Amino acid sequence: MMSCAICNQSEGEIVWGDNTMRVVLLDHPDYKGYCRVELVNHIKEMSDLDEILQFKIMHCVFKVEAVLRKVFNPEKVNLASLGNKTPHIHWHVIPRFKEDPHFPNSHWGEKLREGLHKSISLEEKKVLIKFLNQSLSQ
Ligand SMILES: [Zn+2]
Repeated sequence: MMSCAICNQSEGEIVWGDNTMRVVLLDHPDYKGYCRVELVNHIKEMSDLDEILQFKIMHCVFKVEAVLRKVFNPEKVNLASLGNKTPHIHWHVIPRFKEDPHFPNSHWGEKLREGLHKSISLEEKKVLIKFLNQSLSQ
């Protein structure tokens, strides 16, 4: 699967992981804290996983959502799993802000404004990693 962007880890920085999944922080200034929860193995559908792994990945998604709310206080968190272009299980966990370029549209939808382009600071990244470790590593 050399052409798979997720197998190749071509984007972002791993901020938490174990032998089955990882949390990747995407560098996206309009959606500060945008994370992706990625399964390590190249598997296409959630229903291909055994129940334990299904629950484990959803648990991870919900923990990431909670941490992003705590650190960035977004207006809303969007959860999305599509994988049409990259059929390798991954969940987008997207903090949304009233002033982001697409709100209230999907962040893949029509752009409504310029946005603030505020990248995550080193301090915020440290806090994010600390909270992820506290809630996911036990
Ligand atoms: Zn893959």
